[in-house]
Amino acid sequence: MMLAGWGRYPRAECRVVAPHERDELIATLAAQNSLIARGNGRAYGDSALNPDLTLALRHRDRFIAFDDASGVLEAEAGVLLADILESLMPRGWFPPVTPGTKFVTLGGMLAADVHGKNHHKTGAIGDHVESLDLGLGDGSVVRCARDDNPALFAATLGGMGLTGVILSARLKLQPIETAYVREETLRARDLDETMALFEASRDWTYSVAWIDCLARGPALGRALLYRGEHARRDELSADKHGAPFAVPARRARRVPVDFPGCALNRWSVAVFNRIYYRHGRPGTAIVDYDRFFYPLDAILEWNRIYGRRGFVQYQCVLPKDASRAGLTALLGRIARAGAGSFLSVLKLLGPGRGMLSFPMKGYTLALDFRADAASLALLSELDAIVAAHGGRIYLAKDARIAAADFRRGYGTLDEFATVRQAVDPGHKFASLQSLRLGL
Ligand SMILES: Cc1cc2nc3c(=O)[nH]c(=O)nc-3n(C[C@H](O)[C@H](O)[C@H](O)COP(=O)(O)OP(=O)(O)OC[C@H]3O[C@@H](n4cnc5c(N)ncnc54)[C@H](O)[C@@H]3O)c2cc1C
Repeated sequence: MMLAGWGRYPRAECRVVAPHERDELIATLAAQNSLIARGNGRAYGDSALNPDLTLALRHRDRFIAFDDASGVLEAEAGVLLADILESLMPRGWFPPVTPGTKFVTLGGMLAADVHGKNHHKTGAIGDHVESLDLGLGDGSVVRCARDDNPALFAATLGGMGLTGVILSARLKLQPIETAYVREETLRARDLDETMALFEASRDWTYSVAWIDCLARGPALGRALLYRGEHARRDELSADKHGAPFAVPARRARRVPVDFPGCALNRWSVAVFNRIYYRHGRPGTAIVDYDRFFYPLDAILEWNRIYGRRGFVQYQCVLPKDASRAGLTALLGRIARAGAGSFLSVLKLLGPGRGMLSFPMKGYTLALDFRADAASLALLSELDAIVAAHGGRIYLAKDARIAAADFRRGYGTLDEFATVRQAVDPGHKFASLQSLRLGL
């Protein structure tokens, strides 16, 4: 079938197999020459595409065990984050780390070693995995943990499915008292103020900024910064005390058609950004978890607003010391091109963990571009800026970077290659992305 990632670019005709039982899955691993795992297809580009065989794991979604005392969940890799929230939040448990959508699988989160708004305090999802079972290309299954096959464990977290197929994992959740978040919104007039607000928010569990990517001159880098803490029960209004995990149902809307390519243009993006910035209300509010963590999930198939040709998300991270200069150069170039997106996100990350995992201590910027020739040429220019400042790009968002530019960003690639060579010397696990990048 024709498959694509969330950005709908690129698309590829792939043979898809969806084994139901573990034995069937393991036999498939042993029998194939080339394959890649696929969760819920929320990576933006070509990391879950293999024309020879794409292994659909979404329906392998059983919960295996949950310990109410420790918060450790053991589940199959196809379990959706949305299912974890629905089942375990009412019991007072929340994922330790969450990306900006709940429509991702456990396996996909581990393979991308996803980070959330709390990375500066809590690290990436891999920091909260106790162990995982990995299916290898010879049909064997190995358990990996910090003290059991530690190198393979580290390479698999962030390894984008290139070390094997994660069959199941044990993840430690965090306790919460309510399904609500105390959110504070702050407005920053330029990049210096935005970065100062991140520094001032170090002790907050969650922080993230929406940045006006088309603001120029003295307004370059202006932003709304949101920071939050899980609300305690005594912070809720009296009507919610009795049911602290009950959240009003949110009516999801669906984008009904592909927007025409021309809907997203310099003018519409600039107007949206100006209005969004002006209407952001500084202040404090108690908001439900869905609004705080997953605002985009309220609009189903929002990826259609970029039109039929699809879009690419550009996410890079710059080392802390180089962040101010690098962000100034990136935002300046994007604003000059007038090519930015409705939602551009800035976040301060904590230290990373090496191998293929994306985070490093510094600022990460993420924004969308229509997949057309002009944008792709602009993104190559951005790659040069990122490389010149010692940064790197995120594989889970990538669909187009050149191999040489990618490699410059990841100093631990050799370490990753050594681990992979030991378990998959023939590079059976391969995606269009890994082939493009020579991984
Ligand atoms: C709206 C939106 C917001 C996002 N926000 C964030 C964010 O805040 N932070 C962040 O870090 N990411 C974010 N992402 C990216 C997303 O979290 C990752 O791409 C994640 O990997 C998607 O999971 P998936 O189940 O859809 O995996 P897929 O897209 O299907 O696959 C992604 C990768 O994981 C591998 N994989 C999947 N399942 C397995 C398995 N069982 N075993 C081995 N490998 C496997 C695939 O081979 C592929 O390389 C966001 C994505 C969207 C669409």
